[in-house]
Amino acid sequence: MHKDIATPGRTKEILERYGFSFKKSLGQNFLIDANILRKIVDAAGVSSDTGAIEIGPGIGALTEQLARRAKKVVAFEIDGRLLPILADTLSPYDNVRIIHQDVLKADLHAVIAEELADVNDRMVVANLPYYVTTPIIMKLLTDRLPIRGIVVMLQKEVADRLAARPGTKDYGSLTIAVQYYTEAEVVMAVPRTVFMPQPNVDSAVIRLTKRAHPPVAVEDEDVFFQVVRASFAQRRKTLLNNLVSSLPGGKENKEQIEQALAAVGIDPRRRGETLHITEFASLSNALAPLFR
Ligand code: SAM
Repeated sequence: MHKDIATPGRTKEILERYGFSFKKSLGQNFLIDANILRKIVDAAGVSSDTGAIEIGPGIGALTEQLARRAKKVVAFEIDGRLLPILADTLSPYDNVRIIHQDVLKADLHAVIAEELADVNDRMVVANLPYYVTTPIIMKLLTDRLPIRGIVVMLQKEVADRLAARPGTKDYGSLTIAVQYYTEAEVVMAVPRTVFMPQPNVDSAVIRLTKRAHPPVAVEDEDVFFQVVRASFAQRRKTLLNNLVSSLPGGKENKEQIEQALAAVGIDPRRRGETLHITEFASLSNALAPLFR
């Protein structure tokens, strides 16, 4: 077995050899603790049947741990300066494919069809660049990928939002989206000391396991997510005021919105953050005729 990339000494040596300087704007905080990385790979249940999709391999710290256990690893890296480094650090592994691309612009279905058609199990596993955590998670969820789930390191504050309960300050439209598509669990908290350079926020690893079916019956998903987003548009406003001012055509349809709320037994003076996902589903089903 080769020496781990994820040690402070080896990481420093690689960075110096290539004269690499971190780009803060790309969320470059590399992991220097191989035990944490192995726990991430464990949490993802990666086996010799797994095709792992990684976002942001950096110098290959997590990629290497994945390559040792997975059948294949496909990793998207936006920073071209890392490509020659990765070619070097990952040269012992013949089951890794690096794609030089912004993951937000990638056609993930096409990449999966091309690179991971022959695996029975697919997981996204990553130490995410923190400046784009939410758009990446939303893309992974809404693209409806043929994957078992997602295990990612992210800011603790975002992990709290993903796994939040109704009525808490962390509960919001991201929570509902994650709950709709997956079951979310925080796997572990991670101290900032295991990164180089150290970020100025605490981190956590979260596991999102894709649901076979959504937990609620929604007539029209677009309407459901529009109603959810509108309900959280301004946290201090009542549900009715948010729906009226933020739903398309809300102002012209105030009466119908009031009727829909009454029909499903939701007090219009409540705040969006108190609604359970089942209430958002019944409300959006009652409002769906307005969108036809
Ligand atoms: N996986 C490595 C580790 O754990 O040490 C590096 C993680 S670092 C937090 C995030 C990585 O994502 C960096 O290598 C950065 O260049 C890359 N990155 C940033 N934005 C990206 C994007 N939109 N698409 C793909 N990679 C991106």
